[in-house]
Amino acid sequence: MAQAIDDRYQAYMDAIRRRVCAVCLDQRDDGTCQLAGGRLCAIEAQLPRVVEAVLAVRSDRMDAYVDAVKAQICAGCRGEDDKGHCPFRETGECALWTYLPLLVDAVEEVTQALGPPSTRPAH
Ligand code: SF4
Ligand code: SF4
Repeated sequence: MAQAIDDRYQAYMDAIRRRVCAVCLDQRDDGTCQLAGGRLCAIEAQLPRVVEAVLAVRSDRMDAYVDAVKAQICAGCRGEDDKGHCPFRETGECALWTYLPLLVDAVEEVTQALGPPSTRPAH
């Protein structure tokens, strides 16, 4: 079931729906999520943390985003066991993991249009 999304992140979720959900096999015809088995997509479940993790990377290397997601999102997700294995990751059933390049594009699109949602210290 969909959860209410903090207004600051709604634009990110809208872009993710256009770029990620649109190609995800778990999307219904009406655009909503039909992820089976009562699971909540990791993108929706941890949207603010996912967005902030992606924003903090800002790299041309996808490996850097993969590392950030694994450290900041997977480490706190119930999908991963205490040895760092996740059956959803390994079988392509986690949309966050499978579609990470598209998710990064979605976050970039919104950031360029609006600027980041949180105030971060200037360097
Ligand atoms: S599983 Fe995630 S990416 Fe796929 S349709 Fe549902 S919310 Fe979108
Ligand atoms: S890959 Fe596994 S541990 Fe990482 S967010 Fe997806 S379901 Fe959670």
